[in-house]
Formats: sequence, structure tokens, C-alpha cells
Amino acid sequence: MTARGVETDCGEFDIELRRAASLLANASDVTLFGHVDPDADALGSALALGTALHHRGAAVRVSFGRPDVLSDSLSGLDANGLVVPSHRVPASVPLLVVLDTGDAHRLGGLEDRVAATIQAGGDVLVVDHHVANTRFGTQHVIDPSAEATVLLVLRLLDELGIEPDRSIARCLYAGLVTDTRSFRHASASAHRVAARLLGHDIDAEELVRSLMDTHPFRWMAALSDVLHRAELDPDAARGFGLAHTTVRLCDVDGMSAHEADSVVEVLRTAGEAEVTAVLKELGEQRWSVSLRSEGRLDVGAAARALGGGGHDKASGFTTEAATSADVVAALRAALTDVPTL
Ligand code: MN
Repeated sequence: MTARGVETDCGEFDIELRRAASLLANASDVTLFGHVDPDADALGSALALGTALHHRGAAVRVSFGRPDVLSDSLSGLDANGLVVPSHRVPASVPLLVVLDTGDAHRLGGLEDRVAATIQAGGDVLVVDHHVANTRFGTQHVIDPSAEATVLLVLRLLDELGIEPDRSIARCLYAGLVTDTRSFRHASASAHRVAARLLGHDIDAEELVRSLMDTHPFRWMAALSDVLHRAELDPDAARGFGLAHTTVRLCDVDGMSAHEADSVVEVLRTAGEAEVTAVLKELGEQRWSVSLRSEGRLDVGAAARALGGGGHDKASGFTTEAATSADVVAALRAALTDVPTL
């Protein structure tokens, strides 16, 4: 990108940021959504912004298409009790803020609130860092170069003149540490934000342990089974190698989505594979697939080709197929012409 291009983009982004901040500054009733099965970036973004507006006196609710109750690893972030079950969100709201969500479909059962709110004359502000964001709102603060949506929330708070308190800083740090995979891919500016947040007396070690490093003991045996049936396909993914495995419903019976989602981070350490795929059984012939790339192939493009979305190195899709082998076959085909990074 040319220097001129960067200037133009910054200018447009700053205008959008200012416009969004003035919308938030004048709001007395704010509803915030993140994507279904929120991760710490979706939840942390919604709670950080929601808490700041709650402190200013606005009526605030935070909700997700599913689940209605947060997992133990995430519930500690909701210090002010702002999360409500999806059925308690009115059909339309005066101001809806949708965070960390590239496409309205990713809101699940709450997707209909977007169109209903716009129809009723309300505003929908989309705050996100997904490269393929479909700009489904009335106002947008979107920066695909941001490592996490929480960084964009902090830009909004700065624009509003609100310095994070401890509970807001915890939410922002939670999104930053998880979306950067413990700062493995974080710019100098993201590290400076982390330092600023740590200045608010948050216990980062305790937070990271509960978010990323805690599982029920019975998960260890299930993980062993899941890894035991992993397969390496060295010819797939343009010859860079594909490692894949399947998480069956019985493996995660009674456990949270966090357990199944953690498998891909273990399997991706297989040095022979550029691409890692974990197929999670959702129900009768329904699968959710998480994809990771070690940096040479754009798995975001592969996910979009299969009806999903995400980032170039971390993406996913859901699909219907009779067997896991059918899903792997479709994935192998999508990976044959995936772009390099
Ligand atoms: Mn994110």
C-alpha cells in the first residue's frame, strides 16, 4: 500500500471513529452483541464498551445468540452482570452495537434484531477486525489490521475520553491476549496497549490461566482419544501438509465449547503440517470446522469457499455431511487452490 493510501484510509477510519463515538456519547439505551459462542475478544469487547457506557448512566445489555449462560472460563469477565439471555433482547432497540462479528449470520438467533432495529429507525454500529466484514450496519468502525476487536473498543473509549477502570481493562486484556495467541502475533502498538492495561492493576496470570489454561480433568482422557485419531496428510494443502482430527459429541459430553476449541491449538504444533483442521460434530450430519495456518496459506479463503469466514491464519466453517471423511474431502479440495500469504 502506498503512503498516500495509508493516509486516506486513516482519514476515513478516524472520521468513522469520531462519528461512532458521538453516537455512543449520546445514547441512553445500548444493546451489544458479539458472535455466537463468544470468545474472549467478542465478550471482552462487548463488556468493555458496555461497562463504560453503563458507568455513564446508559441502560446496557450484552447478549449472544448462544449460549445463554457463559462458560466458567468467561463468566468472570462480566463483573457488572450485563449479560442477558437472548430471549430478553427486545425485537428492536434504539442503538445496537455488534462487535467482533464479520457477518450478521454469525449472530445466530439474534440476527433478526439487526434488520428490525434499522427498520425501526435505530442505529447499528459494527465494530470489527475481520477482513471480509460485510458492513451490515448503519455505521462501521472496521480495521482488519487490528489484532483484536478490543483494540478498536479502546480507540472508541479514548475518543469518548473514558480511561478504562480495572474491570474494563480486564475485559480488554482478555480479548487481546487470546486473539494474539498470547502475543505471538502482536505489533509493537498492541504490546504498548497491553502495558497500558497492566497499569490498571489486573492480574494477567490469573486471567490467562482461567481463559486459556484451564480444563476439567476428565478432558485429559478425551483429548487423548481425539489426538490418537489425528491424521497427517502431507500431500494436502498444496503439498504443505494437513493435520486433522474429529471431536465427537461423546468426547465433549457435558463440557463447554472451550474444551473442543482448544484441540486445534495442540494439533497445530505438528511440525509436518502447514494447515490444521479440527472437525467438531454438532449433531446429526452437522459439523463445525476450525482451520489454522502457520502463515504460508490463507485458510480464511478456504473457509469462505466453504461458506464460512475468519482471518487468514485462523478461520472456520460449518457444513452438513454424512461422515467426517466427506468433510475432509471437501476441505482438501478447497485447499488445492488456496492463496499463499
Ligand atoms: Mn476477534
